[in-house]
Amino acid sequence: MNIHEYQAKEVLKQYGVAVPRGQVAFTVDEAVEAATALGSPVAVVKAQIHAGGRGKAGGVKVARGLEEVRAYAEEILGKVLVTHQTGPEGKEVKRLLIEEGCDIKKEYYIGVVIDRGTGRVVMMASEEGGTEIEEVAAATPEKIFKENVDPALGLQTYQARRLAYAINIPNELVNQAVQFMMALYTAFVEKDCFIAEINPLVVTGDGKVMALDAKLNFDSNALYRHKDILALRDLEEENEKEIEASKFDLSYIALDGNIGCMVNGAGLAMATMDIIKYYGGDPANFLDVGGGATAEKVTEAFKIILSDDKVKGIFVNIFGGIMKCDVIAAGIVEAAHQVGLDRPLVVRLEGTNVELGKRILAESDLTIVSADSMADGAQKIVALVS
Ligand code: ADP
Ligand code: MG
Repeated sequence: MNIHEYQAKEVLKQYGVAVPRGQVAFTVDEAVEAATALGSPVAVVKAQIHAGGRGKAGGVKVARGLEEVRAYAEEILGKVLVTHQTGPEGKEVKRLLIEEGCDIKKEYYIGVVIDRGTGRVVMMASEEGGTEIEEVAAATPEKIFKENVDPALGLQTYQARRLAYAINIPNELVNQAVQFMMALYTAFVEKDCFIAEINPLVVTGDGKVMALDAKLNFDSNALYRHKDILALRDLEEENEKEIEASKFDLSYIALDGNIGCMVNGAGLAMATMDIIKYYGGDPANFLDVGGGATAEKVTEAFKIILSDDKVKGIFVNIFGGIMKCDVIAAGIVEAAHQVGLDRPLVVRLEGTNVELGKRILAESDLTIVSADSMADGAQKIVALVS
């Protein structure tokens, strides 16, 4: 789960991570009030959306005086920002962060992630802050320094110090940088983060080390023990269908293609997406209805797929183990009756109660193309949508 920059800064502040003073604003008047309260000669008006690259897209503006704050707030609020992380449709700005302007001497990068290879938390740092770290990683990987953290020991100060020296933090600020990294690491672990990214971390003219930007992403499986974090969820920033799916405990991820997929089991769902790709098609979603799904859950899953206008055809690929084929069939028939099935549907059923499932589908008034194997089904749905 993602949260906004201003929320991430609040969370980090609790751990002693240095951040500029700032306040969220939902309206232009609130933005001006926030700037008045800050009382700093320079205020920065920052679009709050769950995506980076806002600066380049015109979502971060430096204002000198309240008039400029008002003008920038009017300009940015309600604007649809298109950044390299939003996709072409962009994201509408509904909140702003009004923050004191910093006298930046130099921008750095600090990121904390989980390295799947080593199974450990890794802290990364670079002197090339502000820019897209992906570009640095691709063009000049030697400019990114890493420290693997032993889970039993946690990040050690010597490791933080080594990073600070590697990225050329001025000598007199190394201690501050070390304290910053230690605090960031503690926040990462205690709040069960997936990603904590500070880009840029800055050194200011008056000798401070602080986070000018903050991105925190949390492990959803751990949210049950972080009610404070869960309360920061902004549903308006999330995909509607994914929210709907999460209500029914369905694993659903929206994708860019046009073939809707309903599958049971994450492994089979991945394999189904692969085989659709193999035959030249593009999946519109990943959907795992799970093992013990009820007909109601299947109905909801099917409705979510049908509510996507991009979907030009549906491929149901079920291997009935714990999941029974007749339950799937009943769910499909029910959903089709509720919302109307207006697109081609290819069904491949195998396993428990397969005969009963096939009979339910055959006796319904739905037009269904049945498939004998995964490959057969994938080829059929690809042909039907193209
Ligand atoms: P994004 O990564 O989405 O573009 P950032 O928060 O990193 O957004 O802001 C982009 C740039 O704007 C930063 O690299 C920094 O140069 C500048 N900036 C951001 N916040 C401030 C601030 N409080 N004071 C001065 N400059 C800022
Ligand atoms: Mg940034």
